[in-house]
Amino acid sequence: MTKPLKAVIPQRMNANWRDAILQECDCCNQYRRTVKASDGTAICASCADGYYTDQLYHNLEIAMARIAELEASQLTVKLPELCMGVVQSGKAVMVPYAGGHWLNKTAVIEAIRAAGGTVQEAK
Ligand SMILES: [Zn+2]
Repeated sequence: MTKPLKAVIPQRMNANWRDAILQECDCCNQYRRTVKASDGTAICASCADGYYTDQLYHNLEIAMARIAELEASQLTVKLPELCMGVVQSGKAVMVPYAGGHWLNKTAVIEAIRAAGGTVQEAK
């Protein structure tokens, strides 16, 4: 049911901008102070930040799509028939009764599991 998120936390480019060289940026073709990117190209601070924010935006899109998917897939459980408690042979038991006010715990758990849900019982 649950899909893992494909997004990874982006890492901001860690460069020593004091050593930046004034040259043409290979990304925006502007004459700016650049450093060497991991692929060996010259990149300016503006392009490096743009790459980082593009990754963040991509992750946001993935997260929003996952939220929409989760909101659209709400679990619907058809509750079992109502019961009422009666005493039979000195023991309290639940019997199906349309005008009852109780639900059988075992039947409720089975209904939740049948709908694809999971049940965590109190300890
Ligand atoms: Zn640039």
